[in-house]
Amino acid sequence: MNNKFLTIHRQEAGYRPIHDRIHDFGEVEQTLNSKDRRTQASRCMDCGVPFCHWACPLGNKPPEWNDALSKGDYETAYRLLNDTNDFPEFTGRICPALCEKACVLNLMSHEPTTNRENEAAITEMAFQENLVHVVQPVRNGRRVAVIGAGPAGLVAANRLNRMGYAVTVFERCENAGGLLRYGIPNFKLNKAIIDRRLHLLYEEGIDFRYGEDIDLTSLPEGYDAYVVSTGTPTARDLPVPGRELRGVHFALDMLSQQNRILAGTDFKKDELVNARDKDVLVIGGGDTGSDCIGTAHRQGCRSVTQIEIMPKPPVGPDDPHNPWPNYPRTFKTTSSHEEGCTRRWNVNTLEFIGKDGRLTGVKVQEIKWKPNPDGGRPIMEPAGKPEVIKCELALLAMGFVKPEMPQFADNVFTAGDAATGASLVVRAMAGGRKAAADIDNYLNATNK
Ligand SMILES: Cc1cc2nc3c(=O)[nH]c(=O)nc-3n(C[C@H](O)[C@H](O)[C@H](O)COP(=O)(O)OP(=O)(O)OC[C@H]3O[C@@H](n4cnc5c(N)ncnc54)[C@H](O)[C@@H]3O)c2cc1C
Ligand code: SF4
Repeated sequence: MNNKFLTIHRQEAGYRPIHDRIHDFGEVEQTLNSKDRRTQASRCMDCGVPFCHWACPLGNKPPEWNDALSKGDYETAYRLLNDTNDFPEFTGRICPALCEKACVLNLMSHEPTTNRENEAAITEMAFQENLVHVVQPVRNGRRVAVIGAGPAGLVAANRLNRMGYAVTVFERCENAGGLLRYGIPNFKLNKAIIDRRLHLLYEEGIDFRYGEDIDLTSLPEGYDAYVVSTGTPTARDLPVPGRELRGVHFALDMLSQQNRILAGTDFKKDELVNARDKDVLVIGGGDTGSDCIGTAHRQGCRSVTQIEIMPKPPVGPDDPHNPWPNYPRTFKTTSSHEEGCTRRWNVNTLEFIGKDGRLTGVKVQEIKWKPNPDGGRPIMEPAGKPEVIKCELALLAMGFVKPEMPQFADNVFTAGDAATGASLVVRAMAGGRKAAADIDNYLNATNK
């Protein structure tokens, strides 16, 4: 058994220094040199019962590809990785690495193998070394429509295309990627990475139709089956007084606009959602809120505060009240938080305050949570006096509403966030893969 983990410590590539990264939208994460990367891969113990396989929603097999990577065999490493993960260049950058939380080295010593970074490194090497090839599938004469070109739809389209189906992807935006392109900031995922993969999908014969907003109660005709992977387009709102003031926006209004600006789209001055010279309040303590913080910094904000209605999560690698194998909901500091931000918890929003129709502040109040005697959701009680946080831009980052789907025919399969509610890229990709397999089984069973 490999025991290098006893002498070699986990080494993360880390982020570019703040002073270097804060003025541009380039990816913040750095890369290790190939020698150090192989050394990191050699730490994997190849456990008899690898919990990482089970923890990864795609069933990725880190011990297998870590072994090949440690030997410098990038071809085998990429083949093993790509067997289960259609687009490891996405997950290698932005996956919260559920596998690393389950890694035995994490459970033992909080020093899991660097699977996510290894995954990105294998994939970049595979592209560099021309190991990623275009495949021309043998067609089976059947047609499938995919509605929505986010990670779920792209994986479904890729898998079905390779099985021989003629795949048409209908996407309402002007380009593919879903939230990878129009949500997640470029400093986490450079959009050239999506384009590189899309070119392969175009060459392999998938037909992408952009600007097509499909009515889900009347799907396009002429297809043997359908994947509906339309995500969760509706953000949770905050209907308190003053919501209509100028300067109160959904997080995605800012994030998607910024990504479009970086892609060369022009916006009129009065359409811009920009933090320049403003005090910014982000309402919602999750990842979308964190992306707003990093974006506000790069736009030149004066200050950023992030408030969250729930209590501060436990600090430390483990939460004794939520032990493994549950996902550790512990305190997280992202690269955007590192760049500067006041963070507060147990804070409720009461009112948006403005002057001449423009936001000038947000009235908030500290609260506490009491156990519900009936065992239901804890009860919120005021714990402080109302106060006003001065801001000229407030961003609502409080999650997304799970969409209601129409009653579909048997040949329609849902995938990704549309099926599960807002989740993660890796789960959406796993959903896309399952929808492709279900369609193949369905069409073969019904002999259509
Ligand atoms: C700001 C932000 C940051 C995030 N960061 C991370 C992260 O770091 N790591 C992570 O794992 N996850 C992250 N997520 C979550 C992740 O992006 C989503 O879980 C994932 O993108 C869901 O994929 P999907 O394909 O189901 O849906 P989406 O990515 O939402 O794609 C749905 C697609 O369907 C299209 N569509 C919708 N309706 C129609 C229609 N009627 N007709 C045609 N097309 C339609 C949309 O335009 C879109 O392109 C983040 C989410 C947000 C909002
Ligand atoms: S996709 Fe995420 S959970 Fe799966 S192996 Fe990669 S980093 Fe780990």
